[in-house]
Amino acid sequence: MPALKCSATTCIYNKQELCSKGDIQVTGNTANTADQTSCGSFQERKGDSMSNSCVSGCGCETIQVSCDASKCMYNDDRKCSASQIGIAGSNASNSQQTMCGTFRCK
Ligand code: SF4
Repeated sequence: MPALKCSATTCIYNKQELCSKGDIQVTGNTANTADQTSCGSFQERKGDSMSNSCVSGCGCETIQVSCDASKCMYNDDRKCSASQIGIAGSNASNSQQTMCGTFRCK
């Protein structure tokens, strides 16, 4: 499982730039560049901090990453095989505003 750093701090699963979701789905089956990928698991944090505290789980350093970006050199049968990845998207309000910055075209 890759180690994941995520700058999309507007996501409900983001805990100090780690992800608490447990697994994520990266999209971009026709992507040729990193900015054509997205974290499909992004959910915008809305409302006050009380409602966000309902999301439990650790901010885990490693995470299961399923990935549709088949042109990426790290894509191994729709699983990410990179040792670490970086999801970018500070100030994102939807998944299209995030991306896997580790994408490298084969
Ligand atoms: S590094 Fe490549 S295979 Fe891994 S999540 Fe990012 S785009 Fe998908």
